Amino acid sequence: MADTVSAPRSLPLTDLSEDERMFRDQVRQFAEDEVRPLVSKMDQEARIPRELIDACFELGIMGIEIPDEHGGAGATFFMSVLVVEELARVDASLAVLVDVQNTLVNNALLRWGTADQKSRYLPALASKWVGAYALSEAGSGSDAFALACRAHDRGDHFELTGRKLWITNAAEADLFVVMATVDPARGYKGITSFLVERSFPGFQIGKKEDKLGIRASSTCELILEGCRVPRENVLGEVGKGYKIAIETLNEGRIGIGAQMVGVAQGSYDHGMRYAQERQQFGRPIADFQAVQFLLAELATEIEASRLLTYNAARLRDTGASFIKEAAMAKLFASRAAEHVTSKVVEIYGGYGFTREYPVEKYFRDQKVGQIYEGTTNMQLMVIAKQILGKMQ
Ligand SMILES: Cc1cc2nc3c(=O)[nH]c(=O)nc-3n(C[C@H](O)[C@H](O)[C@H](O)COP(=O)(O)OP(=O)(O)OC[C@H]3O[C@@H](n4cnc5c(N)ncnc54)[C@H](O)[C@@H]3O)c2cc1C
Repeated sequence: MADTVSAPRSLPLTDLSEDERMFRDQVRQFAEDEVRPLVSKMDQEARIPRELIDACFELGIMGIEIPDEHGGAGATFFMSVLVVEELARVDASLAVLVDVQNTLVNNALLRWGTADQKSRYLPALASKWVGAYALSEAGSGSDAFALACRAHDRGDHFELTGRKLWITNAAEADLFVVMATVDPARGYKGITSFLVERSFPGFQIGKKEDKLGIRASSTCELILEGCRVPRENVLGEVGKGYKIAIETLNEGRIGIGAQMVGVAQGSYDHGMRYAQERQQFGRPIADFQAVQFLLAELATEIEASRLLTYNAARLRDTGASFIKEAAMAKLFASRAAEHVTSKVVEIYGGYGFTREYPVEKYFRDQKVGQIYEGTTNMQLMVIAKQILGKMQ
């Protein structure tokens, strides 16, 4: 017999390393002990208390991939995904705050920041500063590169003028990654990315949106009126902002996939418990096969969403191509979250329709998963482009 050595069996995607399990468990505990008691109040008051954000910094979940030397946890992108999932299981608003910080802002700086920018901003982002990411405008959403915000080159600084809309974390943030164009005639090749501090002259936060879901997460307009940004705060190269936007959003949408997995799981956990407690016709409703089959369907959808999301995150960490997988994860997980949260409201019957029970909030919170960081149609466009191997 030839000496055959069988290849080592690949681990299941959901198999966590010791470090990953410990980190996940710590965040799960934090979400249960510190976040859950505040969820309903945060939703009603439409704000996240600063003390809770500070607790996130203390836990080390605001600088997950930031290296040790800059005060971060020096962990992986996959860890960020685990954190976002665990937080979203309890509260999708806090999850998106942490998600934007890690997958968009820290990521953009880690990838494109100069050594000087990293040493100026990463320690702050790991310890006290919330970050925000500002691409969208009133007239440019899916067509993001039609943005109108202007950046005038004044030699040692740029002057930014325009408005940004829908900016997550804007109420709390100290640092904003802002996309503006140095020359609209150059189309997407004019788009440039800037690191804008809240205290820069000419920078203001505008109207805060009153939303259907993730109500505690702040979503505001930014008003830039000749906002003075030092030249050394250009992130990457002038005219290469479009690349930063595309590439950070490719990664960011894995985070939204994780948020949707968490929302679906959190809602399902409630549905599962309730189905075993609620008695009708003299027995728990979970005794009825129709309810059992529904729970089985929902569990399968959550599992599939998690596998797609973990796969995309693990591909990203290994340096493999993940664009198609990331878009598929967000597409599928956001649809699954819509279905799961809707069905859990039905499992609760009339009680599910009231604010006294937690499940209507999951139903409201999931909807944004099909809108931000690229709508469902935009994910389908990305996937189609990848599978057809051509530009749309
Ligand atoms: C709560 C919240 C938080 C957000 N946070 C941020 C943030 O932090 N930073 C940021 O920059 N932006 C943020 N956004 C903005 C978000 O990314 C945009 O809302 C999203 O990209 C969609 O853009 P739009 O709202 O202009 O919709 P539109 O682009 O006008 O789309 C409307 C509809 O038309 C469809 N559509 C458009 N073009 C096409 C096409 N070519 N083919 C097929 N269908 C098409 C869309 O799929 C959608 O269904 C946030 C939005 C929300 C709601």
